[in-house]
Amino acid sequence: METKTEKKTFLKGGEFVIRESSWEETYIPEQITEEQQMMRNTAKDFLKTEILPVLDRLDAQEDGLTVEKLNKLGELGMLGLTIPEQYGGSGVDFTTSTFVGEVFGSAHGFTVSIGAQTGIGTLPILYYGTEEQRNKFLPKLASGELKSAYCLTEPGSGSDALGAKTKAELTPDGNHYILNGQKIFITNAGFADIFIVFAKINGDDKKFTAFIVEKTFEGVSLGLEEKKMGIKSSSTRPVFFNNVKVPKENLLGEIGKGYKIAFQILNVGRYKLGSATIGASKTALDTTVKYACERQQFKTPIAQFGAIKHKLGEMGIRLWAAEAASFRLCGLIHEKEHALQESGASLTDVLTGGAEEYAIECALLKIVGSEVLDFVIDECLQTYGGYGFIEEYPMARAYRDSRINRIFEGTNEINRLLSVDTLLKRAMKGQIDLMTPGAAIQKELMSIPDFSSTDTDDVFAAEKKALRNAKKAFLLVAGGAVQKLMMELEKEQEIIMHAADVLIDIFVMESALLRAEKLMNLQGQQAAQIYIDMVKSLFFDAMDRININGKQALAAFAEGDDLRLMIMGLKRFTKYEMVNTKNTRRAIADKMIAENGYCFWS
Ligand SMILES: Cc1cc2nc3c(=O)[nH]c(=O)nc-3n(C[C@H](O)[C@H](O)[C@H](O)COP(=O)(O)OP(=O)(O)OC[C@H]3O[C@@H](n4cnc5c(N)ncnc54)[C@H](O)[C@@H]3O)c2cc1C
Repeated sequence: METKTEKKTFLKGGEFVIRESSWEETYIPEQITEEQQMMRNTAKDFLKTEILPVLDRLDAQEDGLTVEKLNKLGELGMLGLTIPEQYGGSGVDFTTSTFVGEVFGSAHGFTVSIGAQTGIGTLPILYYGTEEQRNKFLPKLASGELKSAYCLTEPGSGSDALGAKTKAELTPDGNHYILNGQKIFITNAGFADIFIVFAKINGDDKKFTAFIVEKTFEGVSLGLEEKKMGIKSSSTRPVFFNNVKVPKENLLGEIGKGYKIAFQILNVGRYKLGSATIGASKTALDTTVKYACERQQFKTPIAQFGAIKHKLGEMGIRLWAAEAASFRLCGLIHEKEHALQESGASLTDVLTGGAEEYAIECALLKIVGSEVLDFVIDECLQTYGGYGFIEEYPMARAYRDSRINRIFEGTNEINRLLSVDTLLKRAMKGQIDLMTPGAAIQKELMSIPDFSSTDTDDVFAAEKKALRNAKKAFLLVAGGAVQKLMMELEKEQEIIMHAADVLIDIFVMESALLRAEKLMNLQGQQAAQIYIDMVKSLFFDAMDRININGKQALAAFAEGDDLRLMIMGLKRFTKYEMVNTKNTRRAIADKMIAENGYCFWS
């Protein structure tokens, strides 16, 4: 992709809430190159020929089948995409790995096996390993010769990952650490050769540290496979460490810096999960459109009923907007990585810097992707009627498999808290100026409302105005809450949840608007009419959601005249034009029906 490093006008992480972006600087999936398309096609072929025909066998955990499929992916070079060539991978850029990862999002439980191998199981070594560790493990992880797992969660510490009890003690000769403890819910545990394990040295909270533990080390043992609601093909087992002697050379990163490894991996993991869930949504909607066109009731294809069109249209809107957010973020991360590379930053900084800068957006995308997927799958299943409930048809499995995504890589509650918390912390550190626009809003509340008409030449004039106002609504709510509650705000999680929901809507609305604007500029207004419909429908609902979230948040901390004034401001900031969403949704559904699938970018 074309990079814009020379401009150095990056939208900083979290800054979208106060700054305007232009469509020119926004990355969209339609910018895919031929080479990337080829890689994507390889991934699609693999999915179609190797995974989808054997989903039942994979879910039954047929002996060796997942390992065999991972090995095939290794042979295709698909396990080492993000590993640089010097360590046996192909070192593709962030956009390319995103295109491939999105395709593998439709591999059901196998998606999770791939993710654990190439993400949480490999990246800690890639990011923080010594040269020796990288040379020893990465080529074999890229080829699939080694399988890996990531051991953070314990029975008593899940969301509170740093509350882990697993302990490591240095032997008197200083050559080994003795590891004791238990991890649970470990993906790929059943066949992993190496485990990235987090433990506290001498039980000291300040010495939370990561280790590379090999399966062959004495004292490593596994519990039974968990019986899960979904993603049944993926191996999920407890792992026990009983006086395991770990050579000191296997300490990963620095003593006491395990939290940094865990959090960095989560940043990028959240992006990847968001993107993969969007891929899964696309497959489900595509399949459902085809089904709805074929299935007849009352001598009519069910796709022709308004109730079904409403569903198809709404799924299309939410999915297309989430896709816009995903690729916009992908472009931002890519550009940041590229800029770091140009500036001569270390490999670690290049590879972690992008997701770290956009940690807020990564958390938001994880929420968006997983919640859009749950919505889409639920509506797809409903569209299938009784067949949706029958295992022979695709939606029952999809329904079971989608649910986990709101739980792992940080639950969606934790990600909501984190996104707002990180934004406020960055503001306090002076990295993002929320104060100046916040103060301007206070002034605006006391002034006469702006009744000026919008630029009639711009198709998106109303949306641009609405977006500017939505950002004001966020600052009104979050700024008001901070001013009123100060340090007490963290105890009022309900308010933070509302603020996070506003933030999500803004991020998605803006991404969809920028994508539509870019497509309109590239393809002309007539071709882009469907995207205009998407944006208008999305804004119509989102502005109301922002109003409701804002109202509930304001009422939770303000009262009397203060509250009345802020509610009036909120009403002003969430005004948007009337849209006939029946027609816009219908148009979107009709387009998919005519093209017999999800046709907006598949
Ligand atoms: C199939 C599967 C695979 C997994 N794979 C791995 C793996 O490979 N490696 C690994 O290390 N872990 C793995 N996990 C663990 C997963 O990351 C955790 O389950 C997850 O982080 C949540 O932790 P928990 O289950 O202990 O829930 P809890 O932390 O107990 O949370 C329970 C509920 O309380 C909420 N909550 C918790 N804390 C707060 C708070 N401060 N404020 C508000 N709400 C809060 C949560 O949002 C949630 O709704 C896996 C889990 C599953 C089910």
